[in-house]
Amino acid sequence: MERAYDVVVVGSGFGGGITACRLAEAGKRVCVLERGKRFTGKDFLKVEDLDDAPKLLWHHVFNPGGLYDIRMMRHVTVVTAAGVGGGSLVYASVQLRAPADLFERGWPEAITRTELDPWYDRTEEALEPRTTPPDPPLDKVRAFAATGEHAHHPANLLPLAVHFGEKRKHPFSQVEQEGCQNLGRCDIGCPVNAMNRVDITYVARAESYGAEVHPLHMVTTIDPPEREGGNWRVAYSNLGEGDDGTVEAPILVLAAGTLGTSRLLLQNRKRLPELSPALGTCFSGNGDALGIALDPQAEGTRNADNGHGPVMTSKLDFPDRHVIIADGGLPPGFEGILEISRGIKFLTGWRRLLLRMQRLLVLFGLSDRPLRPRHLPRRKREPDRDALIFLMMGRDAADGRMRLTWPFNRFDIRWDMAASKRTFDDLERSAKEVAKAANADLHYALDGPLGTYATSHPLGGCPMADDPEHGVVDDLGRVYNYPGLYVLDGSIVPTAIGVNPSKTIAALAERGAASLVAGFPP
Ligand SMILES: Cc1cc2nc3c(=O)[nH]c(=O)nc-3n(C[C@H](O)[C@H](O)[C@H](O)COP(=O)(O)OP(=O)(O)OC[C@H]3O[C@@H](n4cnc5c(N)ncnc54)[C@H](O)[C@@H]3O)c2cc1C
Ligand code: SF4
Repeated sequence: MERAYDVVVVGSGFGGGITACRLAEAGKRVCVLERGKRFTGKDFLKVEDLDDAPKLLWHHVFNPGGLYDIRMMRHVTVVTAAGVGGGSLVYASVQLRAPADLFERGWPEAITRTELDPWYDRTEEALEPRTTPPDPPLDKVRAFAATGEHAHHPANLLPLAVHFGEKRKHPFSQVEQEGCQNLGRCDIGCPVNAMNRVDITYVARAESYGAEVHPLHMVTTIDPPEREGGNWRVAYSNLGEGDDGTVEAPILVLAAGTLGTSRLLLQNRKRLPELSPALGTCFSGNGDALGIALDPQAEGTRNADNGHGPVMTSKLDFPDRHVIIADGGLPPGFEGILEISRGIKFLTGWRRLLLRMQRLLVLFGLSDRPLRPRHLPRRKREPDRDALIFLMMGRDAADGRMRLTWPFNRFDIRWDMAASKRTFDDLERSAKEVAKAANADLHYALDGPLGTYATSHPLGGCPMADDPEHGVVDDLGRVYNYPGLYVLDGSIVPTAIGVNPSKTIAALAERGAASLVAGFPP
């Protein structure tokens, strides 16, 4: 690694990958620091290894090559990914635009659906969203469509960033990929590169233009320039075999994700005293909720075969409630993820004790500890029960607060969720109606391990706004009071989106990166 670049980008998910790509295309010398490893198809867990699900958990000391980062905070459990490509390594590939009315409240004036549409379009060059083809027919699509009909909410196929077709070189990045083989493993990594992930699209293209990507490099501190126009300096821990070090650039883009970026800024606040008082505010879980409708009996709803086909394929809309219900899927016999979502009551013995102790530490202020592989059991596969899985989203109040705890200065999220009660009531009501229409037995869950609310779509913490009183960044991701410092990732989203968020995060990053390229210091 060089000592200095034109731009340093922290994180390589949607925000980081897109920014690195557009700056590298513009001829800038770009360095990307990513705390997780680089995955190729053969690194993802194979079906025969699924009993080894605990190996999936990322931990900076015990398992820096892990894929999932699961954090238990006081009020919220958050699931994200670590690795080059960020959340796109495990996402269900759903690419939805936010409804126009979302932008009417809580967003900077410049951001409207009309303003974002060209940037949404731009993301499609790389991510190429397509609906599942009719051939071969998928049972889960059939079962969900029948469920929607019974519930009088017709199912719509979801646009997925998945390649359905022949083996090819991706036109945006020239990376080889095969077509989708309906392996149902999108949420633990697609072994045939059929998902248009950020690492094989934007990041690969950035590299073809000379960007350097450094996996297993976790950024720890940020120092502002000592003089106007000088370099930002970041320090990193090398989680691989090399040495820790620092790297500099006049432009620093933070794209470490909602938790990663908010944590970095909170922990470096003394070095950056002019940051907005809004830092840490507007946390949202994007109204995530999970429902499992067991043993459906209504015509056409049985035998959805949830492990066959992309993880999500279709959705039912409840526009008056701002709620969507999408189908979900799990790789065949994949119990590890269910363990995480079903919580401690499904654990036994010393693992249960370990998790209880971890929970106690969190309550005493020692939060922000990723779950470790030993927290989860290796389990034998169980026969699948006939079920419809509902992955739901709505517009919560986005009024959670990230902060450092007293006396340990650990990152934590506090969220009483009282103002979101109506949203979660609407989600539960919608799930009940649909399960009833399918004549199934609904298990509705908001909770993750140890009964805390769980989300895989965290947003906010560095909200965008038109003034520094209410926002950490402006509508282009520029950090107020700190020229040269940008945030372009999910942390700048100031409200819940109520649909899968990555396309909106990507569009905001495309827009911010284009403005950064246009105004780059000579
Ligand atoms: C199981 C799952 C399924 C999902 N499915 C969908 C879906 O179908 N559609 C959708 O729209 N969204 C989906 N999401 C959400 C989506 O993945 C996220 O909204 C999106 O990835 C956020 O993008 P980002 O750029 O903000 O951050 P991320 O993609 O999370 O990228 C942040 C990156 O920064 C790295 N990082 C963090 N801290 C540091 C540090 N200190 N130093 C260096 N690197 C650091 C992380 O390792 C990570 O790679 C899903 C999420 C999960 C977990
Ligand atoms: S269903 Fe299988 S092949 Fe298709 S994208 Fe998902 S993991 Fe890849």
